[in-house]
Amino acid sequence: MTHLPGIVVTGASGRMGQMLVRTVAQSGRARLAAAVERPGHDWVGADIGEAMGGAALGVTVTDDPLEAFARAQAVIDFTAPQASVEFAALAAQARAVHVIGTTGLSDDQIAALEPAARHAVIIRAGNMSLGVNLLVGLTRKVAAALDADFDIEVIEAHHNRKVDAPSGTALMLGEAAAEGRGVTLAEAADRGRDGITGARERGHIGFSAIRGGDIVGEHDVLFAAPGERIVLRHVATDRAIFARGALRAALWGQDRAPGQYDMADVLGL
Ligand code: NAP
Repeated sequence: MTHLPGIVVTGASGRMGQMLVRTVAQSGRARLAAAVERPGHDWVGADIGEAMGGAALGVTVTDDPLEAFARAQAVIDFTAPQASVEFAALAAQARAVHVIGTTGLSDDQIAALEPAARHAVIIRAGNMSLGVNLLVGLTRKVAAALDADFDIEVIEAHHNRKVDAPSGTALMLGEAAAEGRGVTLAEAADRGRDGITGARERGHIGFSAIRGGDIVGEHDVLFAAPGERIVLRHVATDRAIFARGALRAALWGQDRAPGQYDMADVLGL
């Protein structure tokens, strides 16, 4: 089985981290090469399978990312923005494909990935699911077909522990709508309405975020005109869709030229 590409999961104790560990270990298409957590984390030194409350997987949780990356072909990283920037430099040093699912990176943090992408493959997407990436394409198409009589609103809902808003996916959808309209999201975005905001401006792309319970992720793109509405909707009910997409990206990235890619590249959309 050692001929299978080795994959490291960072933030292995996280919600997505655990899902990724299971997905990789059960895939039959890759092997779990290492599980990384930060220094001082309770799980460091334990078997990752046992730490997750299941059977041993024969992989000990480590707090040394560079050593782990050096013995793998890919890193799947759903952690936190600054951590992902640091992991990108280490993954490039190890010449491992770096799949970044982390959301909420600032423009500066995205720019900081560029030096790493000169030496290694980085695949980054605010949402790794096939369905959402199709929704992005549909949003671009519908926005291109309709004029600004149709107000565009992106409405998203997530669990109560999510720390960033709008979600990375909502921003992807907003970007697609702006592209379809031939405007930039920076000029069109309307985020965080509260109080006496005045009437909605024609051409704006609005965002609303709902946070509650254990909602995995729901995204609506609403096109509302006088007398009619179109709603494009994606509902995620299982985090496994993101892990499966990330694994697919990690395998797709093998033997690609260094650079930055996204899920549209991976899925050939
Ligand atoms: P989570 O449960 O909070 O897990 C985050 C993990 O990252 C934790 O294990 C955390 O460790 C670890 N971490 C944070 N900072 C770190 C650092 N500096 N060094 C090493 N490890 C670090 O969050 P989640 O729900 O799994 O989500 C993680 C990220 O993935 C978020 O940005 C989320 O928006 C994104 N996400 C993306 C997609 C997609 O398809 N692209 C889908 C779902 C989620 P500690 O517990 O020690 O802090």
